[in-house]
Amino acid sequence: MDEKLESTLWNIQQRNVSEPEFIQAVKEVLGSIGTVLAKHPKFAEQKLIERICEPERQVIFRVPWQDDRGEVHINRGFRVQFNSALGPFKGGLRFHPSVNLSIVKFLGFEQIFKNALTGMPIGGAKGGSDFDPKGRSDEEVMRFCQSFMTELSRHLGEYTDVPAGDVGVGKREIGFLFGQYKRISNRYESGVLTGKGLSYGGALVRTEATGYGLGYFVQEMLAARGESLGGKTCLVSGSGNVAIYAIEKVMQLGGKVVACSDSKGVVYDEAGIDLPTLKRIKEVERLPIESYCQWRKRAHYQEGGNLWEIKCDVALPCATQNELTGKDADALLRGGCIAVAEGANMPTTPDGIEKFTKARIAYAPGKAANAGGVATSALEMQQNASRDAWSFEYTERKLAHIMKDIHDRCLKTADEFGVPGNYAQGANIGAFLRVADAMQSLGLI
Ligand code: GLU
Repeated sequence: MDEKLESTLWNIQQRNVSEPEFIQAVKEVLGSIGTVLAKHPKFAEQKLIERICEPERQVIFRVPWQDDRGEVHINRGFRVQFNSALGPFKGGLRFHPSVNLSIVKFLGFEQIFKNALTGMPIGGAKGGSDFDPKGRSDEEVMRFCQSFMTELSRHLGEYTDVPAGDVGVGKREIGFLFGQYKRISNRYESGVLTGKGLSYGGALVRTEATGYGLGYFVQEMLAARGESLGGKTCLVSGSGNVAIYAIEKVMQLGGKVVACSDSKGVVYDEAGIDLPTLKRIKEVERLPIESYCQWRKRAHYQEGGNLWEIKCDVALPCATQNELTGKDADALLRGGCIAVAEGANMPTTPDGIEKFTKARIAYAPGKAANAGGVATSALEMQQNASRDAWSFEYTERKLAHIMKDIHDRCLKTADEFGVPGNYAQGANIGAFLRVADAMQSLGLI
């Protein structure tokens, strides 16, 4: 990193000392843009970098709610509206006990660049709460969502800020959130949330989009190296929405996914993960992954196991931030892994990324490889704005095109800036150029 960027980073670190994940995300992006500033010195003017690293607005609020026994709970709600140079703030909501300002800021920061890469008119934001939906009844989740939205609603709007789901926020939660927004605002404003149910303005393919998009991205990465998914052994960490539909698409494209996981352990199924079983456990019954083995007797479950020690050709981290360390990267490389694409946001630690880059395997960062989710959210917004509903096939074709575009842009940008084959740098630079250009055109904002 050049001296000026080092000192910018130092200042950002000083101002955000208690936010390690946010600093990690900033460092990763700033580490890529030295060559851009050398080529376009105007983007170093008027503290543009500092402005990109400072959210436009952050809201933190109290979320009181009552459980089924009448006990009162207080959670903390967040919305970080990071950047609206390209369009209304856009990004998911995460409900998980680990959520804090650092996590929301790193996710919001990543979202700016991810959304820019899609080429669609959406700014970057993220939000959520330290509420843990695990083990809560539908009624409790509803009461929480209603309380959360009662405050959040003042900051939203289809032209202002459009949340969606993330970890712990799926169709059920989006339904309760939309219901409460509609009630408070007295408006049927479909475009204020995405990831909605089909009966009230949702779009086909949004459920599958992040995982499917990841599958398409991997296909493109392998094709660029004269390879394909056909017959490849794949690992997918996690077992949530992203993981499930990544497994589905990888299998449709000819790959074999032999393992997945949750926070408690790893399932290994040599014959390939059985999707109907996985979907029933996770989407319907909301059970731990361990119960997979009750239905599929030949599969193995290892409590606290490390998925990345299993030999594979392709690894898709789809669980959470920093789940794949330098040590895991070593294990994957030893096992002959040739491609890693991130379905989760920032799942690989910086030393893991360094190892993949040094080994010159195909490594795609989440902001490129998992952008299919938010891109399809933007397609949902388009459908809401035109009061239209597109077919599954038409929407999926659009998603496949978008993923190919992102892939090609990353590679082309990496070539142009002297780092051929480096998707991480290509993604950061390509996205930065879009955001920086818009911000510069808009004056000192
Ligand atoms: N939470 C998803 C992401 O990380 C989707 C956001 C959205 O659809 O707005 O990109």
